[in-house]
Amino acid sequence: MCAEEVWNYIKDRVSIDREEFFKMVSEIREKAKFINEKGAAIIAAEKLGIMADEILFPPIIGRVLEIGPVKRTRSGVPYRMFWIVNSSGIKSCVAFGDQHVNFLEDLEDKLIKISKYVVAKTTFGPLTRVTEISKIEVLDDDLYIPITDIDKAYVNSIAELKKSRISKLCKAVVIFDQVTELSVCPICGLAVSPSNGDWVCSTHGLVDPELRKVHRLQVSDESGIYSATFYGEVEELKNKLIVFKATFRGEELYILKIYSVQNIFE
Ligand SMILES: [Zn+2]
Repeated sequence: MCAEEVWNYIKDRVSIDREEFFKMVSEIREKAKFINEKGAAIIAAEKLGIMADEILFPPIIGRVLEIGPVKRTRSGVPYRMFWIVNSSGIKSCVAFGDQHVNFLEDLEDKLIKISKYVVAKTTFGPLTRVTEISKIEVLDDDLYIPITDIDKAYVNSIAELKKSRISKLCKAVVIFDQVTELSVCPICGLAVSPSNGDWVCSTHGLVDPELRKVHRLQVSDESGIYSATFYGEVEELKNKLIVFKATFRGEELYILKIYSVQNIFE
C-alpha cells in the first residue's frame, strides 16, 4: 500500500481534498526525515481521525467456511478457530473470549466483517487474531456472492480434500444412494445404543430416541470413487450432481451440507 492507496481508503470520510492531504503528507515527511511516504500518509490519516490499525489492517469481509470447537487457553479464556473465505482466498482466524466464541456459533456460511484485529505470524502461516477489542459483524447476505460462487471455497477434487485441515466445498456425482434410519439422541443428535430394551446416549443417558435418515453414498469425481455419509432429509441422490460441503474422517467422506442437487440426465 502506498500513500495514494491510503488516500483512496480515507477520501470519502475526510473533509479535505487530495491536494491538501498530500500537502499534509509532505509536511510530516519534512519533520520526520526518514519516514517513507506511506508512513507519513498513515500519520496524516490519524490526524484526520482514521486510526492507523484500520489502514494497516483493513476490515476483512468474507463468508464463514468453518467454525472449530471451543477450547480454552491455559489461563481459562475460551477461544475457537474459524476460517473465512472470499475471492482472494481462505483466512485462518482465532477468536478469544466468551462474546466472540458464542457469537460465531451460528455463523456458518454467513457474510461477516472483522475489524480491529491483528495478524500474527505462525508456522501455519498468517493467523488473524480476534481479541476483546476486535469487532465481528454480520453483514446483509446480498452484499456478497453466495458461498457456492466463491471459487476459493472449493477443492479441485475430493482427493485434495483428504489433505485439507478444514471442510470445503466439492462437486461430485452420486452413483449409489442407500437410505437407512438411525436412532439418535434427541438432545445431541448422536447415535444411541440399545440397552435392556431402552436406548442410551453416551452423553445423556436414557433417552427417547428420534429416527434420523442416513444416506450412505458412493460418490465419484475425476479423482476416484468415495464412500460418503450424509445425515438428513434430502431427495433421492442417485445419478445426481451434488454441490456439498464435506470433510474426511478417516477414509469416510462426511457430507455436512448439500447446497444443490442436479439430475445429470436432464
Ligand atoms: Zn445425547
